[in-house]
Amino acid sequence: MNYAKLILHQNKINAVKRFHPWVFSGAVKKKEGNPQQGDVVEIYSEKGEYLGTGHFGTGSVSARIFSFEKFNSFRELWLQKFQAAYLVRKSLGLAESEYTTAYRLIHAEGDGIPGLIVDWYHGTAVIQCHSAGIHREIKNFVEALKEIYGSQLHSVYDKSAATLHHKNTSEPVNNIDGYLFGKVQSSHTIIHENHHRFLVNWEAGQKTGFFIDQRDNRLLLSRYAYGKKVLNTFSYSGGFSVYAAKSGAALVHSVDSSAKAIEWTNENMRLNHTDPVHQSYCADVFDFIKEATDDYDIIVIDPPAFAKSQSARHSAIKAYTRLNTATFKKIKRGGLVFSFSCSQVVTPEMFVGVITSAAIESGRNIRVLHHLSQPADHPISIYNPEALYLKGLVLYVE
Ligand code: SAH
Repeated sequence: MNYAKLILHQNKINAVKRFHPWVFSGAVKKKEGNPQQGDVVEIYSEKGEYLGTGHFGTGSVSARIFSFEKFNSFRELWLQKFQAAYLVRKSLGLAESEYTTAYRLIHAEGDGIPGLIVDWYHGTAVIQCHSAGIHREIKNFVEALKEIYGSQLHSVYDKSAATLHHKNTSEPVNNIDGYLFGKVQSSHTIIHENHHRFLVNWEAGQKTGFFIDQRDNRLLLSRYAYGKKVLNTFSYSGGFSVYAAKSGAALVHSVDSSAKAIEWTNENMRLNHTDPVHQSYCADVFDFIKEATDDYDIIVIDPPAFAKSQSARHSAIKAYTRLNTATFKKIKRGGLVFSFSCSQVVTPEMFVGVITSAAIESGRNIRVLHHLSQPADHPISIYNPEALYLKGLVLYVE
């Protein structure tokens, strides 16, 4: 196959040679051929050295590289990458585990496939494509999943409409969400996470249906929750709430502005027989915290990404600061705050800055007990540190 080519300035090739998966537009000296958004392009140095193959983009990133070596067949390439990703999950004790049956199989650049997320929910694989180019390969991904999971694979669901919709793409996005494989009996299943049970609805849910990325941080909360009064804000389907209640919290309050999220939180509490200590509130967290009169020992703050782009970063930082300030003012003496940010454009240093400003603003004496991040099934290439998105701090508030 003859693909269009991007020829890079000779002094810009080092990042690609070090396996950085993005080619910024400033690195491109010239284009050969007329690549369109999402087309496969080969990347060469000025001296004619092959550097990699990726998908073309018309924005500030001209190509996202998925192979640094020449290859013969796309089907083979994706299968190898899926197999390698599966081996990592197996070595983590996730694939083939009985007490955790949901994990991320493919984490985009972290598994060498920019633009692709695949989450595994106890027999259902949910695919979320973030680029038009990667979405064109979706049939090959289904084949790779069949090969790896065999009869364990019940269905494959494409959840790309929302993520492709905002991208600069000419793909028809309206009819994307749907099943690519399998007999569909239900829009949801019940997964286990560290022995806890959760209903996951990939059709109606946010993202691919569940926030798998908080698994380790929920486990940490269960070390502290015994006998405590816990407030879980931005609860979604109640992940932190279930862990807190199961480990013996005296009281758990969950708050989310989405009625569906509250419904799932209540359902998950019932599934784990933890409803007696639990109360949920469908409310705006900013208002709820302001008006709360309970003396909480632990407050979890896990808001959605306030900043989805660099341009939104400033106002996002102000919102994070406001939220954390209000929380620090409210929490009991000697209480703990689990505070998170999942905005990729807010770096860990900026997040610490936010917490410092909020601490000063609240007038409380605060110590950091834990620095938290995303779990090992959301790996980050050492050459692509920008891919770290989830940051968390556990704070002791005097
Ligand atoms: N902690 C959750 C994931 C949180 S996702 C978990 O472990 O699964 C963020 C959630 O915040 C979503 O459920 C969304 O509905 C909710 N949300 C967004 N803005 C909100 C607001 N202003 N007040 C309350 N909830 C909000």
